[in-house]
Amino acid sequence: MLNFAGMTTMPAFSKLSKLGGLIEEFVRREAGAEKAIFTTSLSLEDQILTWAIVEAKLPVDIVTLDTGKLFPETLALHALTEKILGIEIEKVLPEESDVAAFDSECGMDSIYLDVQARKRCCTIRKVLPLQKICAGRSLWITGLRSGQSENRSGLQMLESAPDWGLKKLHPLLDWTDEEVRAALPLIDIPVNPLHAKGYPSVGCAPCTRPVKEGEHPRSGRWWWEQSSKECGLHKG
Ligand code: SF4
Repeated sequence: MLNFAGMTTMPAFSKLSKLGGLIEEFVRREAGAEKAIFTTSLSLEDQILTWAIVEAKLPVDIVTLDTGKLFPETLALHALTEKILGIEIEKVLPEESDVAAFDSECGMDSIYLDVQARKRCCTIRKVLPLQKICAGRSLWITGLRSGQSENRSGLQMLESAPDWGLKKLHPLLDWTDEEVRAALPLIDIPVNPLHAKGYPSVGCAPCTRPVKEGEHPRSGRWWWEQSSKECGLHKG
């Protein structure tokens, strides 16, 4: 439930109160026979979306990619979110044989030395498991915002993703950092304690480090690469 005391004029309140209805409209129109899927990384944005989907009781499967390399804080947040909201957030795991092959052929240290090895790790631990769970579905909901990075600035709220065989919906596309931060205290959902320790964007532990004041929020992701800071799930 929204904690709205004194907040009715805030833009974040207004967007938050319409969020469930917005998602529902697209789900009804676009999801088809299979349920829509929402992939949460338990980021601030994804916590807002999880709350909205549960609050509006939408027919959406909520899943997370458990790469085997997540921070303990992220795993604890996953369990706590399930408990508070009374839901299951399905963990999607990589194939054990793929991980074993990577470990024996490359090893985790290779991700810092060779961008192809890093991409292979992301493919094994993120892209392939997600491809499997997206099969047969028509709609994938994400927490992407246009203000997060240059390569996300040109996104449409609903876009075709032919590589994935479905459409992607980004309900928070036009939300600002400030609106995200203002919305969270209005709802009963925990956030990752790493955000308060200098990690604005939290991914796998080997590939995420804290950022300094003034640095780009995504600069702590794959910090050793001059890449687009994407892992293959979204266009880089
Ligand atoms: S983010 Fe890092 S640890 Fe996670 S899948 Fe990609 S390369 Fe592997």
